[in-house]
Order: sequence, then C-alpha cells, then structure tokens
Amino acid sequence: MSLISVLAMLVILKARVPTVRRSANMGEERKPCCANTFHENFSDLAACHAPSILVRSQRLTLQISRILHAGYFFKTGDTQIIFDPIFESPFSRNCFAYPEVRFNETRIRSLKLDAVFISHFHDDHCSMESLNWIDRDTPIYLYCEFEELRELVQSLGFRNVQSLQVDQEVMIGNFKITPLLALDPEIDTLFHVRVGELNILNVVDSWLDPSIFDRLKQFAPWDLVLWPFQTMRELAVLDPRRAEPAPENLPPEWLDQLALMRPRLVIPSSCQFVHEAWSWYNHALFPITYRQFEIELAVRLPETQVLRLDPSKTVFFEGREPRVGVALDWVKLVEDTLVDYDYRPGQEIPSTSSIAQRFPDLTKQQRDAVRAYCEAGILKRYAELGPTNSGYFDPGRIWTLAVYDSNGIATHFQYRLQADEIKRLHGEIVRPEWMTEILAVKLYAALFEGEALSSIYLRVNDFSGAPEIEDALRSVDVLEDPLIRCLYEGSVASYQKAQLKRILR
Ligand SMILES: [Zn+2]
Repeated sequence: MSLISVLAMLVILKARVPTVRRSANMGEERKPCCANTFHENFSDLAACHAPSILVRSQRLTLQISRILHAGYFFKTGDTQIIFDPIFESPFSRNCFAYPEVRFNETRIRSLKLDAVFISHFHDDHCSMESLNWIDRDTPIYLYCEFEELRELVQSLGFRNVQSLQVDQEVMIGNFKITPLLALDPEIDTLFHVRVGELNILNVVDSWLDPSIFDRLKQFAPWDLVLWPFQTMRELAVLDPRRAEPAPENLPPEWLDQLALMRPRLVIPSSCQFVHEAWSWYNHALFPITYRQFEIELAVRLPETQVLRLDPSKTVFFEGREPRVGVALDWVKLVEDTLVDYDYRPGQEIPSTSSIAQRFPDLTKQQRDAVRAYCEAGILKRYAELGPTNSGYFDPGRIWTLAVYDSNGIATHFQYRLQADEIKRLHGEIVRPEWMTEILAVKLYAALFEGEALSSIYLRVNDFSGAPEIEDALRSVDVLEDPLIRCLYEGSVASYQKAQLKRILR
C-alpha cells in the first residue's frame, strides 16, 4: 500500500482506478445462511457447518488463521507457514489494526515456522519490525525485483532468503506454493497454494493478469480465495480538491474474475486498518464496505460463502469442508466486534495547517535540517530527476512549497521550475501555479526516517487556479508533484532501511 517509488505508484494508479458502473442489484436483501450459504458472522458459519465437526476424517486438516492485513498463518500436520507477517499496530506508521489487536511477542518469537512468504516490498507486507520477531533459521521466500531488499532481510540475520519467481513452485512439507503473474509484476505477486486436494488463491494486494485466467478456470471451483476487497483512494487524498468521489461498488472485473473461480469460500482480505482517530482519511480512503462486498458476492455468486476473518480468527478445512476453529493465542482482538468502513465523500477536508497542529514540533536541529533541504538540497535533487511526462512545467511555472510547523504556521519557499531546471525565488510570494503543502515533522520523517507517502499527509494544489491553470492541471498526474518526486522517485526500501537502522542500533 505505501509506496517506495513514484514509478511504482504510477503503475498502481493506472491499474487501480477502475471505471465502475453502478449495479442494479445493490438494494437486494441478503438471504439467510444455507439458502445461499451467505454468513453474517462466525457464529452463523459455525452453526451452518456444525455437522462437519462431527465427521472425523482421515483426510488432511488445514488451519488458516488471520494475523493482520495480508498476514496469514497456515498449518497442516507439523508444517507451519506464514504469509506477509505484520505483528504491529500501527504498521506503516499510521495504519491501525481494525478491529484493534495485540500481539504476544514471546509466543511469536517461539514459533517454529517452516517458511515465510512475502508477496512484495511495500512496508505493510515486508516490515523489518515484524520480521525481527521471527526465528532467524526460518527460510524467507521473497518476491521482489530489487536484490537490495533481499540483502536487507539477510542483514537482519536471516540465513536463508530465497527469491520467488512467477510460476516457480515451492514445496514446503505438504504445501505446494506457486507465485502467479499479477498485473504489476514489477511490484507484487499472488499465490496459488495447494495442499492435499485443496486449492487456495491468496491474491494478497494484487490485480490479476489476464494470462492467469485459464488457470483460474482450470482449478474451479476453488476451495478458498483470499480477495483484497478495497479500492484505496491513495492518490485521490493527495489532491482532494480535484478528485472525483469513488464508486462504492466493487469493480465489475473483480466479480468477473471471481466468477471464473467459482470459489466455495471467500475471505475479504488485506486492508483491515484505519488511520489516526482524528484523520479525515478514515472517511476518504476506503469506499467499499465489508457489507457491500458481501452483498455483491451474494448476488453474483450465490453459491459462494463470504467469511469475515478478523485477526486471530481461524478456519479449518477437514477435506473440503470449512469450519470455524479456535483463535490464535498469540494474536488477541482487543474487542471482538464486526467493524466496517464509513466512506463520506461529502466530508469537509481539513486544512494542512490544522493537521499540522496534531503533530509534535521538531527539535531546533531537525528544523534546521528541513530548512537546509528546502533552501539547497531540493535544488540539487530536482535537477537530477529530469522533466515530467506531462510537460506541465516545461513552459516555466511558479511552485510554492509550504512547510507547516506544529502551530499550523507555514514557511513558504518559492521556486521557478522549467522542465528539469529549478531556481529558488526570493521576495514576495506570488500566485502559485503548483503548490505543495507538508508538515515539517513529516518532511523530516520522509527525508531521514524513510516514512512513506501514504502517511505524510502531503497535499497538492489546494488552491483554485485561474481557468487556464485548472485546465492544464487536469492532464497532470498528481505524482508529478516536485516534492513527491524529490522524496520518492527511484528510492528503494527507504522504510525498511530506516527500520533496520533502528533495530540494529
Ligand atoms: Zn498491503
């Protein structure tokens, strides 16, 4: 979710802004359990499948427990594996588990795992703080085109770190795990997990490449699909003034893809976090609710059962039959309630000045470092980047950078940008043709602590420009923002490097 390189984010942008039509079926009532095998919650599921608990079978038993976000624990016989471990709340700086959880560090440190699989390099999937709790003899299977990340995991002390390749199967005990081609293979992968007669698709955060559709059909009906159920408005929140409200329906291609698989059971996966309690992102970032996901699946795939699997919760398979199992004892829900998202497209967007007052002040030394960057460092960095795709800055534009202290007071820096040239302007503040607002504390964190774009509350072009400026802005990608480019373009694993520095200190 959070983003290391601007290029990576650009790819995500292309892939993740689907055009979504409103479905005619949205108002339909859900039907009771077993009429269409739709389950409101765990107790419904348990009641529905209670008879299966009584059937003792020689067939293999599989345990799947949710850790958090895209983190899962799989166990069959003596073999235990984990996907995308996250044992932190908040993770990625300001992603708070939703519902809230606690992790038992001692118990996690004593786990004897046969493998850990990591689907991609984003900090909500590959976090050094979480990996730090895992036994260093555990083999780590990492999907990442940057060799540097593999080396970082090794420098945390893991002796066996393997690179995953698309379509190259890995055997761990009775598990056969095959990474599949995602739409953005330079970013992430998804996993086909085979164990006994079961076929499970862990989609993680990915969007599916059409070349895998034949496989989806070939193994239908799938026993279980872990499906990321949210479209995140991670770019819309950077420029809320110009962002269109998001559809609150599932992208139709998701339903088409799920229909190819005809899964018996679907777990709405990934996501599972909110931001700081005061944050406007809580009503802006996630347009789809769990409820909406359940309704649309019930309409399109009435045979498919949807199961909310909150952190710690477990589903067992004995043969093909799923049933609810005992929760993990090393992940504890603080409150066992069915939460849901609350998207409010009409909400008032707080100013960057008011957000800045939520955060502590920098020390004098830190303030000086931020000022030095805005006065000099940024000039050198910008000149290295090269011109943007849209050419918006080619004719020469005034860029204002406003840096807010903890009193909500801004210091303004002005520059003239022309293609890849930058010049600082002194004197009177003139009307901007591009504007970036950021908190001093977050600019410092992005520069020196590897903080990602997703948590720094950066705001782009929060002004209404002259008609010709507004017109020109329409064709510019928000990621052409000069500060975003200076902070994130071409940087790999800054978040993990900063984590490692803290851990190994
Ligand atoms: Zn994620």
